[in-house]
Amino acid sequence: MSLDPQKIRADFPILHQQVNGKPLVYLDNGATSQKPRAVIDALVRYYERDNSNVHRGLHALSMRATDGYEGARARVAKFINAADPAEVIFTRGTTESINVVARSWGHAHLKPGDVVLTTEFEHHSNLIPWQQAARAAGATLKFVPLLGVDGEGGPDLAALDTLLTPQVKLFAFTHVSNTLGTINPVAEFCRRARAVGAVTVIDAAQSIGHMPFDVQQIGCDFVAFSGHKMCGPTGIGVLYGRRALLEKLAPDETGGGIVVSVTYQDATWKPAPERFEAGTPNVADAIALGTACDYLDAVGREAIAAHDDQLARYAMDKLSALPGIRIIGPRAGSPRSGLVSFAFEHVHAHDVVTFANEDGIALRGGHHCNQPLMRKLGLASTSRASFYLYNTEEEIDRLAKSLERILKFFAG
Ligand code: PMP
Repeated sequence: MSLDPQKIRADFPILHQQVNGKPLVYLDNGATSQKPRAVIDALVRYYERDNSNVHRGLHALSMRATDGYEGARARVAKFINAADPAEVIFTRGTTESINVVARSWGHAHLKPGDVVLTTEFEHHSNLIPWQQAARAAGATLKFVPLLGVDGEGGPDLAALDTLLTPQVKLFAFTHVSNTLGTINPVAEFCRRARAVGAVTVIDAAQSIGHMPFDVQQIGCDFVAFSGHKMCGPTGIGVLYGRRALLEKLAPDETGGGIVVSVTYQDATWKPAPERFEAGTPNVADAIALGTACDYLDAVGREAIAAHDDQLARYAMDKLSALPGIRIIGPRAGSPRSGLVSFAFEHVHAHDVVTFANEDGIALRGGHHCNQPLMRKLGLASTSRASFYLYNTEEEIDRLAKSLERILKFFAG
């Protein structure tokens, strides 16, 4: 099934505007995606018709809100093929989801001498929580090396064999790198981790809305992702956890809504997912996230992945023709996600982004929350074009023209 970006663009009101007198070209999807009308309507409908607090009410609006919220949980469970909706915990996003695991699981299981394994190309959100958890427990943090001067070789799989010892209690890795575009072999990582008894955590922020994702097929223990990068609202995300693991974990945040019984001195917890959702949850955004799942599944994530791949190949082809460009991540022709990071020797990424903005193009420039990786690559920053289902080859042509203009300006 192929995808018609022109037809899809009609569903996204924000795309139909001019920026600096030029039609907007939105190529900052790695930071956040745009929202289709159906998702915006779901938010408005909820606040106009159903808004109420969930779980604790017996009136009509509260029951509708509760049905909507729990329906969204079941919808997300189906989106990732979780065995049970109780394995889906709503959070604020990827960052909070990873922190919940690092604090709850880390506190319960990590001991001095243990190893937490991750990779050299994690987003800060999948690095700093493990630094904190390892430090608190007296455990050690180790890294799967990244191969190649431009990170083009991907993770060092031979080193992974050596690193995955029985001391490794947890292996946390990204599915898709937000800076390199590398797609990690997540099922293989999970299989190898399981062989030494390590728990796995997948940062799926950049992948979940872009390609099929089946937690049972992948065989992972925890998965973190954000609604806003998959056509859903900001402020809502998911922590998937295998039920057997969630049941043994204490909540990292406590308060109303998570308890069976409370005395002046103590409290007992409800089972997951409620145990991990203290306080009034983000009902409206959870419901709209369910709508985003409907939208993406109607288009088809296989088709979105094929479209991303086609755009990435087209962009690699166009951009590699520019003089002095250094493209980071997998080489042209190799599989990569729908994003391309690049750097010019004599033009700073912030100038690239500023010039592109003059041409109506939204790019991102900076360290992309990957400071250690930038240092390893010997770069201060890169510019990044990241694509999604509504982007077209014509937009990449406009990007290439804009970059030519920038290079001319700085050469002149
Ligand atoms: N991990 C990766 C790979 C990301 O790209 C991002 C967002 N840039 C995050 C984690 C953090 O996501 P959020 O800010 O939505 O929590």
